[in-house]
This record gives sequence, C-alpha cells and structure tokens, in this order.
Amino acid sequence: MSKTAVISDIHANLHALYAVMADYQCEQCDAVVCLGDVVGYNAYPQECVNEIRAIGCPVVKGNHDQEVVSLENVTRMNPLARQAMEWTRSCLDEDSIAWLRRMPLQRIAGQDFVFVHSSLEQPAQWNYVLNANDAAGSFARQLRPICFCGHTHQPRVFMRRKGQAVIEVPEYWQQLVVEGQTVVQLETDVDYLINVGAVGQPRDGDPRACYAIYDSAAATVTLRRVEYDVASAQQAVRAVGLPEYLAERLGTGL
Ligand code: ZN
Repeated sequence: MSKTAVISDIHANLHALYAVMADYQCEQCDAVVCLGDVVGYNAYPQECVNEIRAIGCPVVKGNHDQEVVSLENVTRMNPLARQAMEWTRSCLDEDSIAWLRRMPLQRIAGQDFVFVHSSLEQPAQWNYVLNANDAAGSFARQLRPICFCGHTHQPRVFMRRKGQAVIEVPEYWQQLVVEGQTVVQLETDVDYLINVGAVGQPRDGDPRACYAIYDSAAATVTLRRVEYDVASAQQAVRAVGLPEYLAERLGTGL
C-alpha cells in the first residue's frame, strides 16, 4: 500500500463523506482507514455506517460510536449531544449497532503507523490531545513512527525527534502548501502524532471537510480540505429535527 486516506469524525454527514470519498479516489489512494465517530450530530447515521462498511476499511471506535450503543453513558453528554444521540440510536438497525459495538479502540497498520480515535494514552477515556503535554502521553505508548488520531476535529501535527521533547509543529513548518493543501514532509528519526481533522464537523473555523493522505513512498502526510454541499447537509439536519445549532456549526466550521 502506498497512498492511504485517513478519515475521522464523519458524524453522519453523508454529503461531506461523499465529497471526501470522491477526493481520495481522485488522488488514487489504494487504502482507507477510519478513526471512528462514524455517527452522531448529523442526519445520516445509518447511511454513513453503510458507506464505511461498504468501503471495508479498518475502523476504530470513537466516543460517539460507543455511546450510541450504551444507553447509560448518554447522561454524561451535554444536552445537545444527547438529543442527537437518542435520535441517532433510533435510526440504526441491529446489525449496525452490533458493528459499532465490535470496533476495537486502536489498530496497527504494518510497520508504518497505528491509529486511534482520541489518544494512545487510555484510549477508552477519550482524552483530548490539545497540546504537546497531552501528546507526550500518547507518544509514550506509540510503537510505530506515526500515530493518526481524530476526536478534537482540528487538524494538528505533533513530533518527537529522538531524545527530544514533544513539540507541536507550527503551521508555518508544515512546509509546502501544494494546490492549497498542507503537506507535511516526514523525516526519519522523528515520530509523529497527526490529528487528521474531521470529515463531518470541522471545528477549526474552516467549514470544508478535512482528512489526510499518507503517502508512504513519498514520506508525506497531506492534510486535505474538501469543499462539499454544506447547505444540503444543514438542510438535512433541520429536516430531521436535530438542534438548529448543529446545522449552524456546519456553516462556521466551529
Ligand atoms: Zn467526533
């Protein structure tokens, strides 16, 4: 495998998922991995489960995937997330619920990378990796040169050069911008923790869908942004009666 599309946090946004699938096919990716949170927040949970299962890619479990199948945890969520979660559960068939339940928390892909929804440090605790200190906890358990994660819905790159402290790679370091896409040139003797952003609910102020392509031959990770039909995704959220705020945030990317 040489070009792998790494997608995360689809969150039942079928319009965004289709746009990302078209983009990675256009980029000739020959593999896909999914970092979880297939469901939650948006209007197409069953459809997105069907699409991800049809791709047949390895998937790890996100907190929304877990909470939709375990009623008792829903009380810990904020009211908006809970309302969306209860609606989501009502949409899913038994087979999809069993599939969500079966997902592992982390996976290894050959010698190159591992992937997890939140952090390799206690993945079932769903901690957010927001800074170099949080990242260090994950790096301590990282047995491959690269770990891909999601969960914060914000693309970010952390690195650890052998014998040095973990740092967040500032955006101006993320080297080339090729055709408007950010390319990270991977160095040898450096480990990386790369948050690939969110397909279905970006939270970094850019409403375009976000995912990554790992090119093992070129030793690059490209953080790609993809335009999609945000208005139709918003309309679908409103049509099924999910909270207005969930439609609005798709427009602002926050
Ligand atoms: Zn998420």
